[in-house]
Amino acid sequence: MPREISFIGFGSNVGDRQELCDRAIALMNLLPLSQVTGVSSYYETEPVDPEGRLGGHWFYNGIVRLETSLSPQRLLAILQETERGLGRNEINRQGPRTMDFDLLLFGQHQIDQPGLTVPHPRLHKRRFVMEPLVELDPAYIHPALHRSMHELLEALDDPNQVTKLSIKPGSTYPARPTCSVPTASE
Ligand code: AMP
Repeated sequence: MPREISFIGFGSNVGDRQELCDRAIALMNLLPLSQVTGVSSYYETEPVDPEGRLGGHWFYNGIVRLETSLSPQRLLAILQETERGLGRNEINRQGPRTMDFDLLLFGQHQIDQPGLTVPHPRLHKRRFVMEPLVELDPAYIHPALHRSMHELLEALDDPNQVTKLSIKPGSTYPARPTCSVPTASE
């Protein structure tokens, strides 16, 4: 596969949401044939689905920019395995969730297969996706709608509340270069 820029949304609304999001970023740093090249702020967001509201907590959401030579199918399969590893409830997938990943964009590819639709069909309708996307790459063009992320956010009509948090993403498990030499104190 040629190298592509992808955007992966993550969200958690149960347990220690900050720690779970930090862990999701740390795990994305370990993906084969891939590099994390950007991480948005965390946003606290009102659940969109009525069932998501039953968990009590609002979500922590964010987006990772990943440069990857994985296929989109392989990437999504690994992300789904990671959701399970982080304790995702497979029986009630719409209920409170420790971790939810969405493959939002994969270069300029448009994919419509069983189990994989890219761009994610609802990304431009959700404030909790568009705000972090615009933070990361406002000029990125949506491959099907042919409008920039900035333009799509301007046109968005989603009343759900989204608040940018001042905490530093990934601070529980800071990444370090793969070939760094441990210091004497480690
Ligand atoms: P959810 O419960 O919201 O995590 O949705 C997961 C389901 O959506 C799975 O069956 C996936 O195969 C499917 N799906 C289709 N396209 C995507 C995508 N771009 N990103 C994540 N899941 C997707």
